[in-house]
Amino acid sequence: MARVYNFSAGPSTLPESVLKTAADEMLDYHGSGQSVMEMSHRSKVYEEIITGCEALLREVMNIPDNYKVLFLQGGASSQFAMIPLNLMNKSGKADFVITGQWAKKAYQEASRYGTANVVASSADKTFSYIPTLDPATFDKDADYFHICLNNTIYGTKFHTLPETGDVPLVADVSSCILSEPIDVSKFGMLYAGAQKNMGPAGLTVAIIREDLIGHARDITPTMFNYQTHADAGSMYNTPPTYAIYICKLVLEWLKNDIGGLENMKKINEEKAGILYDYLDSSKLFKGTVEKGSRSIMNVPFVTGDEELDKKFVAEAGKKGFVNIKGHRTVGGMRASIYNAMPVEGVKALVEFMKEFEKENA
Ligand SMILES: *Cc1c(COP(=O)(O)O)cnc(C)c1O
Repeated sequence: MARVYNFSAGPSTLPESVLKTAADEMLDYHGSGQSVMEMSHRSKVYEEIITGCEALLREVMNIPDNYKVLFLQGGASSQFAMIPLNLMNKSGKADFVITGQWAKKAYQEASRYGTANVVASSADKTFSYIPTLDPATFDKDADYFHICLNNTIYGTKFHTLPETGDVPLVADVSSCILSEPIDVSKFGMLYAGAQKNMGPAGLTVAIIREDLIGHARDITPTMFNYQTHADAGSMYNTPPTYAIYICKLVLEWLKNDIGGLENMKKINEEKAGILYDYLDSSKLFKGTVEKGSRSIMNVPFVTGDEELDKKFVAEAGKKGFVNIKGHRTVGGMRASIYNAMPVEGVKALVEFMKEFEKENA
Protein backbone atom coordinates (compact mmCIF):
# COMPACT_ATOMS: atom_id res chain seq x y z
CA MET A 1 0.00 0.00 0.00
CA ALA A 2 1.36 3.40 -1.00
CA ARG A 3 1.07 6.30 1.37
CA VAL A 4 0.58 9.78 -0.06
CA TYR A 5 2.34 12.99 0.89
CA ASN A 6 -0.42 14.70 2.85
CA PHE A 7 -0.17 18.50 3.00
CA SER A 8 -3.43 18.90 4.94
CA ALA A 9 -3.71 21.87 7.30
CA GLY A 10 -5.34 19.58 9.87
CA PRO A 11 -6.01 16.91 10.78
CA SER A 12 -2.65 16.27 9.25
CA THR A 13 0.01 13.71 8.58
CA LEU A 14 1.46 11.75 11.52
CA PRO A 15 4.90 10.13 11.78
CA GLU A 16 4.73 6.73 10.13
CA SER A 17 6.56 5.07 13.02
CA VAL A 18 3.87 6.33 15.39
CA LEU A 19 1.12 4.82 13.26
CA LYS A 20 3.02 1.52 13.08
CA THR A 21 3.46 1.37 16.85
CA ALA A 22 -0.23 2.15 17.30
CA ALA A 23 -1.09 -0.61 14.86
CA ASP A 24 1.18 -3.10 16.64
CA GLU A 25 -0.38 -2.21 19.99
CA MET A 26 -3.96 -2.02 18.73
CA LEU A 27 -5.24 -5.33 20.13
CA ASP A 28 -2.95 -5.72 23.11
CA TYR A 29 -1.29 -2.72 24.70
CA HIS A 30 1.87 -3.83 26.56
CA GLY A 31 0.43 -7.19 27.59
CA SER A 32 -2.76 -5.72 29.04
CA GLY A 33 -4.87 -7.75 26.63
CA GLN A 34 -6.76 -4.59 25.64
CA SER A 35 -6.59 -1.78 23.17
CA VAL A 36 -5.89 1.64 24.70
CA MET A 37 -9.34 2.57 23.35
CA GLU A 38 -10.98 0.00 25.57
CA MET A 39 -9.27 0.79 28.85
CA SER A 40 -10.73 2.45 31.89
CA HIS A 41 -9.22 5.90 32.13
CA ARG A 42 -8.90 5.24 35.87
CA SER A 43 -6.84 2.08 35.40
CA LYS A 44 -3.19 1.85 36.41
CA VAL A 45 -2.12 1.04 32.86
CA TYR A 46 -3.87 4.13 31.47
CA GLU A 47 -2.60 6.36 34.27
CA GLU A 48 0.93 5.64 33.06
CA ILE A 49 -0.04 6.80 29.58
CA ILE A 50 -1.54 10.15 30.61
CA THR A 51 1.10 10.97 33.21
CA GLY A 52 3.80 9.86 30.76
CA CYS A 53 2.35 12.10 28.07
CA GLU A 54 2.33 15.12 30.38
CA ALA A 55 5.87 14.41 31.60
CA LEU A 56 7.15 14.14 28.03
CA LEU A 57 5.41 17.36 26.96
CA ARG A 58 6.94 19.16 29.96
CA GLU A 59 10.36 17.79 29.11
CA VAL A 60 10.25 18.42 25.36
CA MET A 61 8.82 21.96 25.73
CA ASN A 62 10.75 22.74 28.90
CA ILE A 63 7.55 23.87 30.66
CA PRO A 64 8.23 25.61 33.99
CA ASP A 65 6.83 24.02 37.17
CA ASN A 66 4.44 26.90 37.82
CA TYR A 67 2.44 26.01 34.71
CA LYS A 68 -0.33 23.41 34.56
CA VAL A 69 -0.71 21.18 31.52
CA LEU A 70 -4.37 20.39 30.88
CA PHE A 71 -5.71 17.77 28.47
CA LEU A 72 -9.09 19.07 27.34
CA GLN A 73 -11.65 18.59 24.59
CA GLY A 74 -13.71 20.89 22.41
CA GLY A 75 -10.84 22.01 20.18
CA ALA A 76 -9.01 25.29 20.13
CA SER A 77 -12.42 26.80 19.31
CA SER A 78 -13.74 26.06 22.81
CA GLN A 79 -10.76 27.93 24.23
CA PHE A 80 -12.04 31.07 22.52
CA ALA A 81 -14.82 31.05 25.18
CA MET A 82 -12.99 29.30 27.99
CA ILE A 83 -10.25 31.93 28.07
CA PRO A 84 -12.51 34.96 28.66
CA LEU A 85 -14.68 33.00 31.10
CA ASN A 86 -11.60 32.23 33.19
CA LEU A 87 -9.31 35.19 32.59
CA MET A 88 -11.53 38.23 31.90
CA ASN A 89 -12.15 38.76 35.56
CA LYS A 90 -10.61 42.05 36.75
CA SER A 91 -11.06 44.92 34.29
CA GLY A 92 -13.15 42.76 31.98
CA LYS A 93 -11.01 43.94 29.08
CA ALA A 94 -8.65 42.14 26.71
CA ASP A 95 -6.49 43.12 23.72
CA PHE A 96 -6.43 41.26 20.40
CA VAL A 97 -4.31 41.26 17.27
CA ILE A 98 -6.40 40.18 14.28
CA THR A 99 -4.10 38.21 11.98
CA GLY A 100 -6.65 35.84 10.50
CA GLN A 101 -9.86 33.94 11.00
CA TRP A 102 -8.86 32.13 14.16
CA ALA A 103 -7.65 35.31 15.83
CA LYS A 104 -10.90 36.96 14.80
CA LYS A 105 -12.99 34.16 16.23
CA ALA A 106 -11.11 34.41 19.53
CA TYR A 107 -11.85 38.13 19.54
CA GLN A 108 -15.52 37.75 18.62
CA GLU A 109 -16.13 35.14 21.29
CA ALA A 110 -14.39 37.23 23.97
CA SER A 111 -16.59 40.20 22.95
CA ARG A 112 -19.55 38.25 24.30
CA TYR A 113 -18.08 38.30 27.80
CA GLY A 114 -16.32 41.65 28.09
CA THR A 115 -14.60 44.49 26.27
CA ALA A 116 -12.47 43.03 23.50
CA ASN A 117 -10.20 45.61 21.92
CA VAL A 118 -8.51 45.28 18.53
CA VAL A 119 -4.93 46.57 18.84
CA ALA A 120 -4.01 45.88 15.22
CA SER A 121 -5.23 43.93 12.22
CA SER A 122 -3.89 42.79 8.86
CA ALA A 123 -7.36 42.34 7.33
CA ASP A 124 -6.59 45.15 4.83
CA LYS A 125 -4.27 42.83 2.85
CA THR A 126 -6.01 39.48 3.35
CA PHE A 127 -3.88 38.79 6.44
CA SER A 128 -0.73 38.41 4.36
CA TYR A 129 1.49 40.00 7.02
CA ILE A 130 1.90 40.40 10.77
CA PRO A 131 1.14 44.01 11.74
CA THR A 132 3.78 46.06 13.54
CA LEU A 133 2.71 46.59 17.12
CA ASP A 134 3.20 49.66 19.27
CA PRO A 135 3.11 48.76 22.99
CA ALA A 136 1.95 52.33 23.73
CA THR A 137 -1.40 51.31 22.23
CA PHE A 138 -1.81 48.29 24.52
CA ASP A 139 -4.26 48.50 27.43
CA LYS A 140 -2.25 48.28 30.67
CA ASP A 141 -5.41 47.16 32.51
CA ALA A 142 -6.28 44.36 30.12
CA ASP A 143 -6.84 40.98 31.73
CA TYR A 144 -4.96 39.36 28.86
CA PHE A 145 -3.48 40.02 25.44
CA HIS A 146 -4.33 37.47 22.76
CA ILE A 147 -2.44 36.49 19.62
CA CYS A 148 -2.58 33.61 17.19
CA LEU A 149 1.14 32.80 16.97
CA ASN A 150 1.00 30.95 13.65
CA ASN A 151 -1.85 31.67 11.26
CA THR A 152 -2.71 28.36 9.69
CA ILE A 153 -4.91 29.69 6.89
CA TYR A 154 -2.74 32.63 5.80
CA GLY A 155 0.72 31.23 6.49
CA THR A 156 2.02 34.00 8.70
CA LYS A 157 3.85 33.81 12.00
CA PHE A 158 4.83 36.26 14.74
CA HIS A 159 8.64 36.34 14.67
CA THR A 160 8.77 38.63 17.70
CA LEU A 161 6.35 38.60 20.59
CA PRO A 162 4.41 41.68 21.69
CA GLU A 163 5.84 43.33 24.83
CA THR A 164 2.81 43.13 27.09
CA GLY A 165 4.52 43.80 30.44
CA ASP A 166 2.41 42.47 33.31
CA VAL A 167 -0.56 41.68 31.07
CA PRO A 168 -0.58 37.91 30.46
CA LEU A 169 0.14 37.03 26.84
CA VAL A 170 -2.20 34.28 25.62
CA ALA A 171 -1.40 32.50 22.37
CA ASP A 172 -3.20 30.10 20.11
CA VAL A 173 -0.36 27.77 19.06
CA SER A 174 -2.52 25.13 17.37
CA SER A 175 -0.45 25.05 14.18
CA CYS A 176 3.05 25.69 15.55
CA ILE A 177 3.26 23.94 18.92
CA LEU A 178 6.27 21.58 18.99
CA SER A 179 7.63 22.99 15.71
CA GLU A 180 10.50 24.80 17.44
CA PRO A 181 11.54 25.72 20.99
CA ILE A 182 9.30 28.28 22.68
CA ASP A 183 9.92 30.17 25.92
CA VAL A 184 6.77 29.23 27.82
CA SER A 185 7.60 31.68 30.62
CA LYS A 186 6.87 34.57 28.25
CA PHE A 187 3.21 33.54 28.16
CA GLY A 188 0.34 33.45 30.61
CA MET A 189 -1.16 30.67 28.58
CA LEU A 190 -0.67 28.63 25.41
CA TYR A 191 -3.30 26.42 23.84
CA ALA A 192 -3.58 24.12 20.85
CA GLY A 193 -5.90 21.71 19.15
CA ALA A 194 -3.77 18.56 18.81
CA GLN A 195 -4.65 17.69 15.22
CA LYS A 196 -1.95 19.77 13.54
CA ASN A 197 1.30 18.88 15.23
CA MET A 198 0.56 16.72 18.28
CA GLY A 199 -1.72 13.86 17.34
CA PRO A 200 -5.27 13.15 16.27
CA ALA A 201 -8.29 15.43 16.64
CA GLY A 202 -10.21 15.26 19.90
CA LEU A 203 -7.47 16.45 22.24
CA THR A 204 -6.89 20.09 23.14
CA VAL A 205 -3.87 21.05 25.22
CA ALA A 206 -3.74 24.10 27.48
CA ILE A 207 -0.53 25.19 29.21
CA ILE A 208 -1.48 27.77 31.78
CA ARG A 209 0.33 29.67 34.53
CA GLU A 210 -1.02 28.60 37.90
CA ASP A 211 -1.92 32.08 39.14
CA LEU A 212 -4.35 32.45 36.22
CA ILE A 213 -6.36 29.46 37.40
CA GLY A 214 -9.12 29.71 39.99
CA HIS A 215 -10.71 33.04 39.07
CA ALA A 216 -13.44 31.94 36.66
CA ARG A 217 -16.71 33.79 36.57
CA ASP A 218 -19.64 32.33 38.52
CA ILE A 219 -21.53 31.53 35.34
CA THR A 220 -18.66 29.40 33.99
CA PRO A 221 -19.81 25.84 33.30
CA THR A 222 -17.90 23.37 35.47
CA MET A 223 -16.38 21.76 32.39
CA PHE A 224 -15.18 25.17 31.15
CA ASN A 225 -13.39 26.05 34.38
CA TYR A 226 -9.62 25.46 34.22
CA GLN A 227 -9.68 24.82 37.98
CA THR A 228 -11.88 21.76 37.45
CA HIS A 229 -9.31 20.12 35.20
CA ALA A 230 -6.26 21.33 37.11
CA ASP A 231 -7.63 19.88 40.38
CA ALA A 232 -8.51 16.57 38.75
CA GLY A 233 -5.30 16.06 36.75
CA SER A 234 -7.34 16.28 33.52
CA MET A 235 -9.46 13.39 34.83
CA TYR A 236 -12.59 15.22 35.99
CA ASN A 237 -14.45 13.29 33.33
CA THR A 238 -13.29 10.84 30.68
CA PRO A 239 -10.40 12.45 28.83
CA PRO A 240 -9.83 11.74 25.10
CA THR A 241 -7.88 8.64 26.04
CA TYR A 242 -6.77 7.38 22.64
CA ALA A 243 -5.75 10.82 21.36
CA ILE A 244 -3.60 11.31 24.47
CA TYR A 245 -1.95 7.93 23.83
CA ILE A 246 -1.09 8.90 20.24
CA CYS A 247 0.16 12.28 21.46
CA LYS A 248 2.49 10.42 23.83
CA LEU A 249 3.83 8.36 20.91
CA VAL A 250 4.36 11.56 18.89
CA LEU A 251 6.29 13.09 21.80
CA GLU A 252 8.45 9.95 22.10
CA TRP A 253 9.20 10.23 18.38
CA LEU A 254 10.04 13.89 18.78
CA LYS A 255 12.35 13.23 21.71
CA ASN A 256 14.03 9.99 20.61
CA ASP A 257 13.94 9.94 16.79
CA ILE A 258 14.17 13.68 16.09
CA GLY A 259 16.18 14.65 19.17
CA GLY A 260 14.04 17.44 20.55
CA LEU A 261 12.75 20.83 19.47
CA GLU A 262 16.10 22.37 18.47
CA ASN A 263 16.52 19.61 15.90
CA MET A 264 12.87 19.81 14.90
CA LYS A 265 13.31 23.50 14.22
CA LYS A 266 16.32 22.85 11.97
CA ILE A 267 14.39 20.27 9.98
CA ASN A 268 11.33 22.52 9.71
CA GLU A 269 13.47 25.46 8.55
CA GLU A 270 15.12 23.25 5.98
CA LYS A 271 11.74 22.13 4.62
CA ALA A 272 10.31 25.65 4.54
CA GLY A 273 13.54 26.94 2.97
CA ILE A 274 13.30 24.45 0.10
CA LEU A 275 9.76 25.54 -0.68
CA TYR A 276 10.26 29.30 -0.23
CA ASP A 277 13.50 29.32 -2.25
CA TYR A 278 11.69 27.71 -5.13
CA LEU A 279 8.68 30.06 -4.81
CA ASP A 280 11.02 33.06 -4.84
CA SER A 281 12.72 31.87 -8.02
CA SER A 282 9.66 30.55 -9.87
CA LYS A 283 8.08 32.51 -12.70
CA LEU A 284 4.79 30.63 -12.34
CA PHE A 285 4.20 30.24 -8.60
CA LYS A 286 4.44 32.88 -5.95
CA GLY A 287 4.05 32.92 -2.18
CA THR A 288 1.22 35.11 -0.85
CA VAL A 289 2.90 36.24 2.38
CA GLU A 290 5.30 39.13 3.04
CA LYS A 291 8.78 37.71 3.54
CA GLY A 292 9.25 38.91 7.11
CA SER A 293 6.00 37.27 8.25
CA ARG A 294 6.38 33.81 6.75
CA SER A 295 5.36 30.68 8.62
CA ILE A 296 7.52 27.56 8.56
CA MET A 297 4.41 25.39 8.96
CA ASN A 298 1.88 26.61 6.40
CA VAL A 299 2.95 27.87 2.98
CA PRO A 300 0.24 29.36 0.74
CA PHE A 301 1.04 30.05 -2.91
CA VAL A 302 -0.75 30.90 -6.16
CA THR A 303 -0.12 31.01 -9.87
CA GLY A 304 -2.32 34.07 -10.32
CA ASP A 305 -4.60 32.09 -12.64
CA GLU A 306 -7.49 30.28 -10.97
CA GLU A 307 -7.84 27.71 -13.73
CA LEU A 308 -4.14 26.89 -13.55
CA ASP A 309 -4.38 26.58 -9.76
CA LYS A 310 -7.19 24.06 -10.20
CA LYS A 311 -5.20 22.12 -12.74
CA PHE A 312 -2.20 22.06 -10.42
CA VAL A 313 -4.25 20.78 -7.47
CA ALA A 314 -5.81 18.06 -9.64
CA GLU A 315 -2.51 16.90 -11.13
CA ALA A 316 -0.76 17.03 -7.77
CA GLY A 317 -3.48 14.79 -6.33
CA LYS A 318 -2.89 12.22 -9.06
CA LYS A 319 0.82 12.17 -8.20
CA GLY A 320 0.12 11.57 -4.50
CA PHE A 321 0.44 15.14 -3.18
CA VAL A 322 -2.92 15.52 -1.46
CA ASN A 323 -4.86 18.19 0.45
CA ILE A 324 -2.89 21.01 -1.14
CA LYS A 325 -5.82 23.22 -2.15
CA GLY A 326 -5.65 26.64 -0.52
CA HIS A 327 -8.23 28.06 1.86
CA ARG A 328 -11.16 29.61 -0.01
CA THR A 329 -10.32 33.12 1.30
CA VAL A 330 -6.82 32.99 -0.23
CA GLY A 331 -7.40 30.66 -3.16
CA GLY A 332 -4.57 28.83 -4.87
CA MET A 333 -2.63 26.28 -2.90
CA ARG A 334 -1.35 25.76 0.61
CA ALA A 335 1.26 23.25 1.65
CA SER A 336 1.12 22.53 5.36
CA ILE A 337 4.48 21.08 6.25
CA TYR A 338 4.08 20.13 9.88
CA ASN A 339 6.63 18.17 11.90
CA ALA A 340 5.65 14.79 10.47
CA MET A 341 6.08 15.84 6.82
CA PRO A 342 9.49 14.45 5.84
CA VAL A 343 12.07 16.55 3.98
CA GLU A 344 11.69 14.13 1.04
CA GLY A 345 8.01 15.05 0.81
CA VAL A 346 8.82 18.73 0.33
CA LYS A 347 11.64 17.96 -2.12
CA ALA A 348 9.30 15.74 -4.15
CA LEU A 349 6.63 18.47 -4.16
CA VAL A 350 9.10 21.07 -5.42
CA GLU A 351 10.29 18.68 -8.17
CA PHE A 352 6.67 18.25 -9.22
CA MET A 353 6.12 22.03 -9.17
CA LYS A 354 9.16 22.52 -11.40
CA GLU A 355 7.81 20.02 -13.91
CA PHE A 356 4.41 21.68 -13.83
CA GLU A 357 6.03 25.06 -14.37
CA LYS A 358 7.93 23.79 -17.41
CA GLU A 359 4.80 22.29 -18.95
CA ASN A 360 2.61 25.31 -18.27
CA ALA A 361 4.97 28.20 -18.90
C1 LIG B 1 -7.17 24.55 13.44
C2 LIG B 1 -7.06 25.78 14.25
C3 LIG B 1 -8.07 26.19 15.13
C4 LIG B 1 -9.36 25.43 15.28
O1 LIG B 1 -9.11 24.29 16.01
P1 LIG B 1 -10.29 23.28 16.44
O2 LIG B 1 -9.52 22.30 17.26
O3 LIG B 1 -10.86 22.73 15.19
O4 LIG B 1 -11.27 24.05 17.22
C5 LIG B 1 -7.86 27.32 15.88
N1 LIG B 1 -6.73 28.03 15.77
C6 LIG B 1 -5.75 27.69 14.92
C7 LIG B 1 -4.52 28.52 14.84
C8 LIG B 1 -5.88 26.55 14.13
O5 LIG B 1 -4.91 26.20 13.29
